[in-house]
Amino acid sequence: MRIPPVPLVPTPETPEARASVGFKWAGDPIGKRHRIGGEPDWIQYEEVPHCSCGNQMSFYAQLDSLGDDVCLGDCGMIYVFVCWDCFETKSVLQSS
Ligand SMILES: [Zn+2]
Repeated sequence: MRIPPVPLVPTPETPEARASVGFKWAGDPIGKRHRIGGEPDWIQYEEVPHCSCGNQMSFYAQLDSLGDDVCLGDCGMIYVFVCWDCFETKSVLQSS
């Protein structure tokens, strides 16, 4: 199943949360790539996992690094996959 791209926009609600969003040096679109659906914006190479049932999993979402203090390696992202038959999930982390 392919999900149409739905961008996710962080809406930090406390001063502490606001301080954790954003980068001093990393430019666009770093930190703004959060999205459900569409196709993964692979940083390194295509890396679609297989479910324990053997099916190739479907891309569900990607979660970007949040800011200078919540950074996945070198501005990496987590990619989330789901098997629509078993509802098993797996995630992949890539960083540049
Ligand atoms: Zn499965």
